Amino acid sequence: MIPLLNALKDRLLSDADIKTLIIPADKVAHVQVGNPLEHALLVLIKSGYTAIPVLDESFRLSGLISKSLILDSLLGVENFEMDRLAEQSVRDAMNEDVPRILPDATFSKALSLSINHPFLCVVDQHRSFIGILTRRSILGLISKYLHQH
Ligand code: AMP
Repeated sequence: MIPLLNALKDRLLSDADIKTLIIPADKVAHVQVGNPLEHALLVLIKSGYTAIPVLDESFRLSGLISKSLILDSLLGVENFEMDRLAEQSVRDAMNEDVPRILPDATFSKALSLSINHPFLCVVDQHRSFIGILTRRSILGLISKYLHQH
């Protein structure tokens, strides 16, 4: 068992290229910082995703928005203030602390980050959005390598 695990580790660390796993930006559901919360909620519900990236006008990564962040920002003292869906923008509710990675990062780095995040945003050094890397695709690659032996 140990030699098998060592072989898997060596192969993953030497061959695995995260670029092949990236879902490109044009296939990623996203919203813009200035969109009303209502629009973000519609995109989240229609896409079925829990959270999606938020981009600025220049297609740079600004944050993440999720259904739970939107619900939090609608919460008044005793009830939900639904007017805020139209009044507030994504900027007011988004989380700016986004798990991100460069496209040439190592597989090991992507694996470590994905332990705590269902997906990572891939950006270049200017914060331009390239796509996302999901924990599913990382686990899929590990499974593929494991079953090749
Ligand atoms: P999955 O591994 O497909 O379950 O995706 C995990 C998470 O990654 C989803 O809940 C979304 O938050 C995000 N995600 C995956 N694919 C997309 C996509 N095409 N557009 C936007 N977000 C995505």
